[in-house]
Amino acid sequence: MIYFPTKYNEIIGRIEAADARKYEKTRNFINGAVTYLSPFIARGVIQLPQIKQIVVPKFGRYVSEKLIQELAWREFFQRVWQHKGSAIFSDLKQDQENVKHRQIPTKIVSANTGIEAIDKAISQLYQTGYMHNHARMYTAMLTCNIAKSHWHMPAKWMYYHLLDGDLASNMLSWQWVAGSFSSKKYYANQDNINKYAGTQQHGSYLDCPYEAFPFAEIPVDLKPTEDIHLTTPLPEKKTPVIDPSLPTLIYNSYNLDPNWHNEINANRILLLEPDHFEKFPISEKVIHFILNVAKDNILDIQVFTGAFKELETLAGNNKIIFKEHPIANHYKGIQEERAWLFPAVNQYFGSFFSYWKKCERYYQEK
Ligand SMILES: Cc1cc2nc3c(=O)[nH]c(=O)nc-3n(C[C@H](O)[C@H](O)[C@H](O)COP(=O)(O)OP(=O)(O)OC[C@H]3O[C@@H](n4cnc5c(N)ncnc54)[C@H](O)[C@@H]3O)c2cc1C
Repeated sequence: MIYFPTKYNEIIGRIEAADARKYEKTRNFINGAVTYLSPFIARGVIQLPQIKQIVVPKFGRYVSEKLIQELAWREFFQRVWQHKGSAIFSDLKQDQENVKHRQIPTKIVSANTGIEAIDKAISQLYQTGYMHNHARMYTAMLTCNIAKSHWHMPAKWMYYHLLDGDLASNMLSWQWVAGSFSSKKYYANQDNINKYAGTQQHGSYLDCPYEAFPFAEIPVDLKPTEDIHLTTPLPEKKTPVIDPSLPTLIYNSYNLDPNWHNEINANRILLLEPDHFEKFPISEKVIHFILNVAKDNILDIQVFTGAFKELETLAGNNKIIFKEHPIANHYKGIQEERAWLFPAVNQYFGSFFSYWKKCERYYQEK
């Protein structure tokens, strides 16, 4: 069973255990040597340069390149979010084609699509809060390109359950699969799924050559659809105790960095804004993960469920410090830069390929 620790030393141990050589060869297989680092990266517990600093000296630049390139995918999506803002929550480059509805197939939600590998991956998502990248792609392609759902509601459903839920990686990956942030829709047939998921399923509605895509008809199993209504069980609102002689550091669900200014005395507040979670709900499992990571690693952290404005009032003349992030655009105070793998590559790129071409130059430099 996949397990995600919440203690910082175990999380660092997970970076140290990453095997760049095996990763390069097996990452596409559901049981491949992937790192399982995404919840810690997405929540800002560890920073991408930290991973690079551990992996590259151990395996060398050449062997590490695939893993670094995958880390760069995350950074690419973050840059798109920074530059395009809330436009990433709608069809970004072009409208998704061949959409029949804006709901989600009932059999995706109930993990009963008839495609064994996908059903297993969805059940595992519910149990663990994690899904392998290839399984995410299969699930999104079945939903958007076979069942012809618009990507937005299904993306919110998956985001709700993921410990690593990251709005940019999530929404833009769904759009990449559905063809609104890529040049074509992604398809996988049963052979491809069997190969990477280790199943031996035959005779399913995906057991066809690639020429059969796109299907003229939605398979009967995927026809029933539903709306989903998701809510976030936020902790009760409690007024934090703020020492007026100290600065106030604001943490949030994307910044849980235990090393951030850990050398100073400060009021440390984990800010959970109800408005944000109303728009982008997360499950109880995910909220517990966030709270546990915060409590296990950030000294005297207090949780405040409320709006930034209320916290600002509570802080009075107190200095407020936060890290730059699109969900913190409305914070006021001292904004600090996030740690980037490729800080100099700070523009909008419409494709990962063009982004990576720029990054590669910096990666090759010492
Ligand atoms: C439909 C869909 C939804 C997704 N939603 C999210 C999400 O909400 N949050 C999220 O962090 N990732 C998301 N991803 C990207 C990717 O699936 C996960 O980052 C990866 O599976 C996490 O597992 P890992 O840490 O073991 O990955 P590894 O393969 O070990 O990769 C190491 C790290 O590189 C980054 N990375 C790897 N692949 C990708 C990728 N394709 N896109 C972006 N970053 C990548 C991640 O930070 C990951 O932790 C999504 C992908 C798809 C296709």
